[in-house]
Amino acid sequence: MNHNLSRILMYVSFLVGIIPFAIGTAKDITWLIICSLILIAVGYIQACIFARCPHCGKSLMKRLLGQEYCPWCGEPLD
Ligand SMILES: [Zn+2]
Repeated sequence: MNHNLSRILMYVSFLVGIIPFAIGTAKDITWLIICSLILIAVGYIQACIFARCPHCGKSLMKRLLGQEYCPWCGEPLD
């Protein structure tokens, strides 16, 4: 999986997961809270696995989307 796609999926899972989490918390719906936390966790875990430099394999989790070069090895990311 592409590292940019992986990070986009993580952000989407956070944004999509926060809505049912807020509703579940406000209405005290336990299963909705659990499902939203699972969605957020899956998004984060897949990003930990796939958001890596294709050259050196180091994590790109703390880097901004659209960065052209790896901050660790300096190789182009696309
Ligand atoms: Zn690298």
